[in-house]
Amino acid sequence: MSEETIFSKIIRQEISTPLLYQDDLVSAFRDIAPRVDSHILIVPNKLITTINEVSEEDELTLGRMITVAKKLAKSEGIAESGYRLIMNCNSHGGQEVYHIHMHLLGGKPLGPMLSI
Ligand code: AMP
Repeated sequence: MSEETIFSKIIRQEISTPLLYQDDLVSAFRDIAPRVDSHILIVPNKLITTINEVSEEDELTLGRMITVAKKLAKSEGIAESGYRLIMNCNSHGGQEVYHIHMHLLGGKPLGPMLSI
């Protein structure tokens, strides 16, 4: 079995990070080091270490991550101004936590897609 990260403890509420959303498939909470005013992580409840490990049986979960991102963007008040969804994979992608997650970022113009 893959090794759990801090995100599993947050999902199970074994540590006191407030959840913004949770259902049978996904959970969402604020990033501990926000890069912009609204920086939320949307995470599958099931541990999937990287996007490379996603399978067809995860398609419902991955779709749910987007519909939850859309709802949270609305409740954050950034739906109309706009936002960015990012998923990083492995070292070149900048992945730090090996439990896949989608970053929801907004609250100001985010500029060009990449700065390398
Ligand atoms: P990534 O680089 O895509 O793997 O992003 C991992 C993100 O998780 C970073 O933006 C971190 O700030 C965030 N993070 C790490 N630990 C926590 C935590 N305990 N609670 C909330 N966010 C976290």
